[in-house]
Amino acid sequence: MYEVVLEREDCTICGNCIEIDDTLFAFDDDDLATLVGSIRDDDVDEIEIDDAEIYKEAADNCTGECIEVYDDEGNPA
Ligand code: SF4
Repeated sequence: MYEVVLEREDCTICGNCIEIDDTLFAFDDDDLATLVGSIRDDDVDEIEIDDAEIYKEAADNCTGECIEVYDDEGNPA
């Protein structure tokens, strides 16, 4: 199990995550990126997932450096 966090206030609206997978990432009504199916707390999206590969690719290509992937011990994946 992994946890993915997207700190929306740092999103540059570059669209790279959505180009990588538009079923996992989308622009929200406020035009900032969101994690599809996530829970939002204080403009930070969080979701638990089993397969982190696409999320890690998105994090590597995120110009805002606002996508983080953690393993089940809370370490960066
Ligand atoms: S890749 Fe990062 S900065 Fe670009 S739209 Fe997605 S979350 Fe925002």
